[in-house]
Amino acid sequence: MADYDVIVIGGGINGVGVAQAAAAANHTVLLLEKQALASGTSSKSSKLIHGGLRYLESWEMGLVREALLERALLLRLAPDLVKLRDFNLPVYADMRRGPALLYAGLSLYYGLSGFDKSARFSTVARENWGSLDGLRTDGLKKVFRYHDAQTDDVALTKAVMQLAIDLGAELICPARVTRIELAATGSEIVFHDGRAEKTVTAKVCVNAAGPWANSVLDHVSPAVPQQQIELIQGTHIVVPGKIKQGCYYLESRRDGRAVFVLPWQGQLMVGTTETRYKGRADDVQALRSERQYLCSVLQYYFPEYAGLSAADSSVSDFAGLRVLPGGDSHVFHRSRETVLHPDRPIAAGAPRLLSIYGGKLTAYRITAAKVMQHLQSALPERRACARTDELPLSPVDDSPIGCELLP
Ligand SMILES: Cc1cc2nc3c(=O)[nH]c(=O)nc-3n(C[C@H](O)[C@H](O)[C@H](O)COP(=O)(O)OP(=O)(O)OC[C@H]3O[C@@H](n4cnc5c(N)ncnc54)[C@H](O)[C@@H]3O)c2cc1C
Repeated sequence: MADYDVIVIGGGINGVGVAQAAAAANHTVLLLEKQALASGTSSKSSKLIHGGLRYLESWEMGLVREALLERALLLRLAPDLVKLRDFNLPVYADMRRGPALLYAGLSLYYGLSGFDKSARFSTVARENWGSLDGLRTDGLKKVFRYHDAQTDDVALTKAVMQLAIDLGAELICPARVTRIELAATGSEIVFHDGRAEKTVTAKVCVNAAGPWANSVLDHVSPAVPQQQIELIQGTHIVVPGKIKQGCYYLESRRDGRAVFVLPWQGQLMVGTTETRYKGRADDVQALRSERQYLCSVLQYYFPEYAGLSAADSSVSDFAGLRVLPGGDSHVFHRSRETVLHPDRPIAAGAPRLLSIYGGKLTAYRITAAKVMQHLQSALPERRACARTDELPLSPVDDSPIGCELLP
């Protein structure tokens, strides 16, 4: 008899989302997190709850539509955590994407949202360009204004975990999973809690270790196949200053990449880069070249930052890792779909271990719902005690969830 129906490895947004969904489905759940909730990628994101306008270029319509629907739901369920923001999208004469293309993209974005009023867009009248936080106006042809949402990724992760705990889930943190032994059905999970090694059993285990997913699979016995992945580093810088007219969606003149300038905790957050990463996931840190790149985009579009140096100690940074499917194509063209990878084909039996690769902060709830569908054959039937698309989410002020938290 297993200790738990579901054991989740990793307390990032995907792990806590699965813990919440499993607890709502009335299963016994334990989440094991090695360091702190949201200490991995889920504290290093751009903090956007969005459809992902730029993914329209790679024709990922399903992904964008799904994320827009989740955005609408989170705006309703978590009004204190997810806020709608104005996004300014300036179009310059020398930009790769002209006004007609951007108009088409924004119209499609609006359509994919189900013509939700939060996805309506407009243009900023020329006489108001002077109020756009010092935005460069020479060569400016048009400024579109659309809406997306912003959150605090750490606060969102904590809030989802708290809700999971309220529904009966348990959390151990720190708890580093060091070994997984698969049995004919279910698995035995060995973890270290900083003092001693402990063992727990589960009917099914969910590997939500983000960029560490394959490191977790390295310690599974008997060995299971791993998805071929690539880790892509994304860096943000945080710069003193204030913007008052919402967020800015800019295009780097060097390589055409989208770069956001966002208000963040009374400062400006600028990001992100995309750099292939080969090291250990624990060691990721911003590169000097990335700081320089982001600084120069900011300085070009907001000339009042011309005096800022990427080396200034007032410029802080953070870097996280995206998990993308491996392959030869350019990272911009790699699918952003979340991959759910069971330890064995369905024909060979119910999954004992399911790994989550990739995903979006925005889509954590729907990802968790898909995980639960995959786990159905491994779990006993239970009568659900809640629905995750109806549960309101509130910020957790202190740390009642008994886990070391990021500052
Ligand atoms: C630069 C960047 C910007 C992004 N911006 C956005 C955005 O604006 N909006 C959006 O929707 N998405 C965004 N994303 C995507 C989103 O942030 C990620 O998809 C999401 O945070 C991944 O969460 P996760 O739970 O899978 O992984 P993580 O947050 O990395 O969590 C994995 C957890 O597993 C733990 N762990 C690892 N190994 C073990 C072990 N052996 N035992 C126990 N615990 C373990 C880690 O400590 C970690 O806490 C961005 C991603 C990046 C990289």
